[in-house]
This record gives sequence, C-alpha cells and structure tokens, in this order.
Amino acid sequence: MTDPIDADLFRTILTEKRASLGQHSETARDAARTVELDQTRTGRLSRMDALQGQAMARATEQRRQLELRRIEAALARLDSGEFGECMECGNMIPPGRLKMDPAATLCLTCAERAEASAGVRR
Ligand SMILES: [Zn+2]
Repeated sequence: MTDPIDADLFRTILTEKRASLGQHSETARDAARTVELDQTRTGRLSRMDALQGQAMARATEQRRQLELRRIEAALARLDSGEFGECMECGNMIPPGRLKMDPAATLCLTCAERAEASAGVRR
C-alpha cells in the first residue's frame, strides 16, 4: 500500500555514501599509523601535537564507522522492505527526512525524543 519510497534512488545514494566513507576510512587509518611511527623520531612538542592529531583522527574514525554502520543497516532495510519505517513506532518516515538522511531510522517525533534523552548526558 504505502510505497512512495524510491528504493533504487536511496540504494544509489547509500551505496555512494558508503563508498566515499570507506575511502576516507582508509586514509584516516593510514594517518593514525603514520603518527605512531613518527613518534620515535620527533621531539616532545611535536609528539604532543602528533598525539592530539591521532586522538582527533580516532574520533573522526569512530564517527565514520558509526555512519558506515547506519548506512549498512539502511541498505539491509532496503533489502528486507523495511526501509522508511520508523524503528520505534512503525510509522513511515517522511520522504523529506529520508532525503536529508537516508540512513535515518526514526520518524521526526521519535528522533526528537531520542535526542532529548541522549541530551541528558551532555
Ligand atoms: Zn517513530
């Protein structure tokens, strides 16, 4: 009944996003590795810079991995025909929201509720 979602379009968007995230991920791993090697032959100050850069690279990498997992999950939902359904309440996620974030798993109402409870930690 409710099939307003262009599955092919979202599959293309998600696949492209995954490909670009995958490439970036390789680059970040290389950067982190380079920093580790350089530590043996750099001074104290640049070592601190290097460690800071490494921590930032790790944080960026973690965000990337999270995003990759979201995209993988969205692609899996496309395959199973559950794509576009809110995982919390089962309502359809508005197409506009899916266009902004094809990996969205929650409708706006549920997403706002989730953000509000996550915000407690800040
Ligand atoms: Zn919902």
